[in-house]
Amino acid sequence: MMAPVSRGVLVIVSSPSGAGKTTLTRRLLAEFPNQLEFSVSYTTRPMRPGEVDGRDYWFVTPDVFEGMVERHEFAEYAWVHQNRYGTARAPIDTALGAGRDVIFDVDWQGGKALSAQWPRDSLKIFILPPDVDALERRLRQRATDAPDVIERRVRKAKEELEHYPEYEHLIVNDDLERAYALIRATYLTRRYGGVDRPDVPYPLADLAQLVASNAAAADHAKKLVDR
Ligand code: ADP
Ligand code: 5GP
Repeated sequence: MMAPVSRGVLVIVSSPSGAGKTTLTRRLLAEFPNQLEFSVSYTTRPMRPGEVDGRDYWFVTPDVFEGMVERHEFAEYAWVHQNRYGTARAPIDTALGAGRDVIFDVDWQGGKALSAQWPRDSLKIFILPPDVDALERRLRQRATDAPDVIERRVRKAKEELEHYPEYEHLIVNDDLERAYALIRATYLTRRYGGVDRPDVPYPLADLAQLVASNAAAADHAKKLVDR
């Protein structure tokens, strides 16, 4: 039997657009479906091909969004890339109260607001691209946005990057397998503590390796921002 955990963890994952946070968070959710759920945000942006309403986002009109703001239904909301995005409060309270963890794909504004409201329960992770050119390449390859939208997102990437110091865990998404191993280890270490336990069916991280990779990622982030 796994030892009960009294409250769930808010796993807050941010990155510049195109750095790979959707890929990494989806994989974590697929591996731990019984303990981790995705916070489905509300947005006024148009749906991309392949996206599903209620799975990727709740796609709503500006009027519906504004109504939710007025009724104080959001734990946080922000303007990102000229659209509105918000995180509803009720599903978070329900999940955390039941000891389930919630994963958030939000920008730095959302990360700041959520961790301010749940300072003890938040785990903040920032995903870094190998370089800024890679971001643009990946967004073009993803081919889900119009060229002018991609250009705007690349410009915004640098602004998002500047907020990396607000995150305690930094992961460079160069090799996907390596980046996934790091986000997985970071999550499990927080969830279960840093020591392998007989009641937890996952091998935990090599803490020294996590600390070293975090320090290297911080150097990398500084170079990206300074360039
Ligand atoms: P974000 O959610 O941060 O905007 P995505 O997860 O949608 O980014 O990734 C952007 C694109 O880059 C996707 O097409 C994805 O498949 C690809 N991608 C993600 N990680 C890697 C990686 N390590 N190497 C190469 N391509 C990647
Ligand atoms: P996209 O349009 O590419 O899905 O997301 C654009 C940006 O909005 C990403 O940085 C994403 O993390 C952020 N985002 C998505 N949902 C929310 C939310 O509910 N709140 C905030 N503040 N940002 C969000």
